[in-house]
Amino acid sequence: MDFYLSETEKKFRDDVEKFILDEMPSSYAANDLYWPGGYGAISEFEVRDQQVEKFRRKMGEHGWSTMAWPKEYGGGGRSFIEQAIFCERFSYHGAPGMDISTLIAGPTILRFGSEEMKREWIPKIVEGNLKFWLAYSEPNAGSDLAAIQTRAVEDGDHLVINGQKIWSSGAHVSDCGWMVARTDMNAQPYRGTTLFIVDNKTPGITIRPIINIDGFHSFNEVFFDNVRVPKSNVVGEMNMGFYYLMVALDFERLIISMGGFRRRFEDLLKYARETRRNGRLLSEDARVRAKLADLAIQIEIAYLLYYRTAWMMDNNLFPNIEASEIKLVTTVLSRKLADTGLEIMGPYGQLWTDSARVPLRGRFSLGYLDSLSAVIGAGTSEIQRNILAQRGLGLPRK
Ligand SMILES: Cc1cc2nc3c(=O)[nH]c(=O)nc-3n(C[C@H](O)[C@H](O)[C@H](O)COP(=O)(O)OP(=O)(O)OC[C@H]3O[C@@H](n4cnc5c(N)ncnc54)[C@H](O)[C@@H]3O)c2cc1C
Repeated sequence: MDFYLSETEKKFRDDVEKFILDEMPSSYAANDLYWPGGYGAISEFEVRDQQVEKFRRKMGEHGWSTMAWPKEYGGGGRSFIEQAIFCERFSYHGAPGMDISTLIAGPTILRFGSEEMKREWIPKIVEGNLKFWLAYSEPNAGSDLAAIQTRAVEDGDHLVINGQKIWSSGAHVSDCGWMVARTDMNAQPYRGTTLFIVDNKTPGITIRPIINIDGFHSFNEVFFDNVRVPKSNVVGEMNMGFYYLMVALDFERLIISMGGFRRRFEDLLKYARETRRNGRLLSEDARVRAKLADLAIQIEIAYLLYYRTAWMMDNNLFPNIEASEIKLVTTVLSRKLADTGLEIMGPYGQLWTDSARVPLRGRFSLGYLDSLSAVIGAGTSEIQRNILAQRGLGLPRK
């Protein structure tokens, strides 16, 4: 067992680092208030300008938008370890990296989509400028996705959609919805749903903002009024959507901004080293040192799980239980990092981002709120624990 990166992997990491430092759009860096593990303050939702588009296109030209996909579909044919290294560096620098298109929609299409669908959608995703939002949750269906009520009724070559989605992150700045709807009203809840792509520009779609706890417009409620979607947009077979969704959800839980955790931790460490309170450096305070040491251990654990997951994927082992494990570990870390930061900063930590006296641009006060979303998004922590208890430990369903 070797826990170190190979020379080739280290060289790749250096290339990625250089690319980010040379090409990262200044508009993006300036708005980087992203909190690792959180969903709410993602600057990507606020900034989608020409610089960011150009950066994404360049990533696509390097084959980095879809680096672990097979070469025959325009991917880079690289390993999942390399993809993990890439995502780690991107999240460390807060750069606009891989996203729902490349980490969820694309891999699910490659796995379950027809050849026709792959030919239509995969090149657009590889190019790096097609953005998806996730259209799963509804007002009465979140953890229990089998309860979705939005209907998709067959009409010739089309599906006609009526209903509502909610908490739709980034729908207002995306091109397409990655959507599930009920297609067979008489089937068992788990069997009668279909997964498909809906173009945001289709008539009948209304997107209304929901302002999140941080004060950002990150998610929305989306209404569908007789929206017509070509049946060629259906992923895999009709009525099998729930099954594909479970796989897509595992892909989502594996999206971890690992480098973001390290970056924010380093910010805090620097703050403790440089800040004096009551005449002495915070880093000399035994309680502060103990808290930072605890955090360092948790970050190290998360890194080990992160690279183990990539290693499993390289060895054709699909990390299903591990997806819940790492989601839960990094959710706890997201909260703990913010809590510890605020404890160390004292009252200053509670100041808002626009205050002249707020430490570290207010990222920790924002993160304190945003880390709440980590507990809920992509499946709540209770649901992850249920999965671990049932699938991981073989305990009975309650
Ligand atoms: C910031 C953010 C971004 C989001 N982005 C998106 C998005 O882009 N697209 C999308 O489709 N959805 C999105 N969501 C929605 C998210 O997936 C749901 O909120 C989540 O799945 C929980 O569903 P719910 O809100 O309906 O809560 P509920 O399912 O009603 O849960 C309420 C509480 O009951 C608990 N609970 C429920 N069932 C069980 C059980 N079986 N055992 C134990 N406890 C249980 C939950 O853990 C929770 O604490 C987002 C949510 C947030 C907060």
